[in-house]
Amino acid sequence: PLTTADVIEEHRICVCVRTRPLNKKEVATKELDVITIPSKDVVMVHEPKQKVDLTRYLENQTFRFDYAFDSASTNEMVYRFTARPLVETIFERGMATCFAYGQTGSGKTHTMGGDFSGKNQDCTKGIYALAAGDVFLMLRKPNYKKLDLQVFSTFFEIYSGKVFDLLNRKAKLRVLEDEDVLKLIELGNGCRTSGQTSANAHSSRSHAVFQIILRRRGKLHGKFSLIDLAGNERGADTSSADRQTRLEGAEINKSLLALKECIRALGRNKPHTPFRASKLTQVLRDSFIGENSRTCMIATVSPGMASCENTLNTLRYQTVAM
Ligand code: ADP
Ligand code: MG
Repeated sequence: PLTTADVIEEHRICVCVRTRPLNKKEVATKELDVITIPSKDVVMVHEPKQKVDLTRYLENQTFRFDYAFDSASTNEMVYRFTARPLVETIFERGMATCFAYGQTGSGKTHTMGGDFSGKNQDCTKGIYALAAGDVFLMLRKPNYKKLDLQVFSTFFEIYSGKVFDLLNRKAKLRVLEDEDVLKLIELGNGCRTSGQTSANAHSSRSHAVFQIILRRRGKLHGKFSLIDLAGNERGADTSSADRQTRLEGAEINKSLLALKECIRALGRNKPHTPFRASKLTQVLRDSFIGENSRTCMIATVSPGMASCENTLNTLRYQTVAM
């Protein structure tokens, strides 16, 4: 069987989907589950199994991915098949990016930033923290230890084409220990939701970018960018009555389209990558060029019938990137 590393070696891109369980509110309102993961690389969107008069919606639609993670999957499992292989990339002087893409409420932040709210009894580490943990483990391996690499970290938000630091200029600090990076993640996540640093308290309208940067003798060695994208349903806000909301929607649309184009160019090894089209892709520019660039996309979807339209949009976006 192919390993994730093989898949990435072949495509330079790994595209996955993850569905979450129905939440309490959805269960309470008897929301129907329309997503099934019949095998480890297929996702089906279908009519609810329960017989209700909702059949007007859709026929079964099947999409194939590198990996499909069902609602029982854990952050650790998703991490192991998506971002984990990319940790090696940055030690081998490459550039790695991992995106979470999907509608608001589908689990992007849960997957990437983790859940430290205490709402879910246990605190769940996300891909930021899991990747950082493995970077520190790798640093201790003899062949990397002798390179004397230094770890830096940045955490910022892109909102309406502007960049906002989530660490209050603590960014680009050298990270000394594993725990330091966890503190930074918590600090940045806190800034995001409270909106103290951000221009906008609504994380659904901004892209959050967490980076782990390796330097050797003051020079860039490798960089891992982990991105919790703005909710993709925001693109529909372009017809909103409110001017600000309309502008936000247009900006998000623009950046997600630009991202798709860049990933497509990367996947097909095209010489020209159209990264200038948005702030997001400009910021990630050096991650889209160069021989040793690897990308992983995690599409997150909400299982409910009410989210069906958005879910199909998310799945279609992903397959175009493949
Ligand atoms: P998004 O960032 O895409 O808007 P969140 O990550 O904030 O969505 O998730 C919305 C809610 O669903 C949160 O309360 C989160 O804890 C919960 N959730 C998301 N994914 C999962 C999952 N795989 N398992 C359990 N709860 C989840
Ligand atoms: Mg979020």
